[in-house]
Amino acid sequence: MTTDQARSAALLGGRHADLVSWTDDERPALLGHYGAGALPTWMTLFYSQVAAPDRIAYLWERPPLPEAFASRVDDDPGEDGGVLGRTFPHRLPRGPARARYQAWQTLPDSDRALVELASYTARRLDLGRDDVTDFLLVSFSSVDAIGHEFGPDSLERAASLAALDRHVGELVTSLVEQSSGRLLVALTADHGMAPTITQARRDGHASDGVDTRVLATTVEDALTRELGPGPHVAALLYPYLFLRPMAADVHARAVALAVETLRRQHAVYGAWPTAQLEQATDPVAKLFWNGAYPSRSGDVALALEPYFSPVQTGGNTLGANHGSPWPYDRHVPILLWGDGVEHAVIETPVTVEALVRTLALHLDVPPGPNDAAPLP
Ligand SMILES: [Zn+2]
Repeated sequence: MTTDQARSAALLGGRHADLVSWTDDERPALLGHYGAGALPTWMTLFYSQVAAPDRIAYLWERPPLPEAFASRVDDDPGEDGGVLGRTFPHRLPRGPARARYQAWQTLPDSDRALVELASYTARRLDLGRDDVTDFLLVSFSSVDAIGHEFGPDSLERAASLAALDRHVGELVTSLVEQSSGRLLVALTADHGMAPTITQARRDGHASDGVDTRVLATTVEDALTRELGPGPHVAALLYPYLFLRPMAADVHARAVALAVETLRRQHAVYGAWPTAQLEQATDPVAKLFWNGAYPSRSGDVALALEPYFSPVQTGGNTLGANHGSPWPYDRHVPILLWGDGVEHAVIETPVTVEALVRTLALHLDVPPGPNDAAPLP
C-alpha cells in the first residue's frame, strides 16, 4: 500500500500492490485502487475527514529547534516562499478552497493527515497480524515542497524535518503496537536538493538558474543553420533533449550537433547521445546510463555544472531544485530500525539498491542476477 502523489504511488506500488492510493491535487480526496476495484469507502471517507477544512492547520508556526538549526536566517533573499511568504508564521492563503488546499499539501500538516490515514488503513487491513510479511510504503512530500520554496538550508526546511521526525515517530509507534513489535522500518529519500543560488554564491560557488527553454532555442538555431528550417527540437525536459522524428541519417547528424552545441554552453557540464551512454567513460554519463531507457529517455542527456539548476516555472530563480548528478542531490540518508537490527553507523558509501537487497534478505528472498550486495 502506498499513499501520496500519483507518481510516487506508481513507483512505490509497482505492478503488484494490493492497494495503491494517492491524494488528489485539487481537493481533499483520495484516489487509487484496491485489488481489481475501487478504494474502500472507509478509506476515502477517512482521508476526506483528516484533510477537511475543519481539521487542517491554517497556520505554520516556528517550532522549537535544536541549537544547530535555530540560528538559521528566517528571511533569506534566496527564498521563494510562494503564497506562504518568506517568514514564520506561514499562513494558508485566503480565497479559493483549491488554492488553500494546494498550499496546505506543501506543509508538514499534510504529512500529519497521511500518518493518520496510514495508521488507520494498517489497522483496517490487519497488517502485521499474522505470519505473512506485509509491506506498507508511505511517501512524505512536505520536506521536498518546503525545500523547493525555501531551499535546503532554510529555517523552514529544518522545521519541516523536525515535523517529519515527529510524524514518522507517530506512525512507527502505532505500527509497533499493531504488529506486536515485529516491525522493520527503512527510511530513505529519492533525492537531495541544490542550495538556493543565493546560498551557493555565499558559499563561494559560481551559481545560477538556467532557463532550459533558452538552451532548447540555442540547439534549435544551430540545427537550423546546418540542416535547414525546423523545428528539429521537440522539447528539452531536463535532463533530456528530445528531437522530432527525422530520417535516420539526419537524426545522427542532429544528435551530434546538439551534443556539440550543448557542450559549448558555459552552464553545461556535459552532454551525451543517450544511445551511447553505455560506452561513455565520464562518471556522470555512467550515472545517466543507470537510469536511462534509451527508447524513451530522449536523444541527448545533459548535465548542468554543479550549483547550476534549471529555473522554476516562469523563469523564477528563487527557491531551489533537484535532479542533478552532484553529491548534494545524490547523498541521501538510509535508516534501518527494528526487529533484529543492531545499532551501527556505516561511514562507507552505499547505494539505495543495497537497502533493497537487505530487505529481501530479511524475507529470505534469493538474490537475482542484477542485485546489489546488502548493506554492510
Ligand atoms: Zn521536488
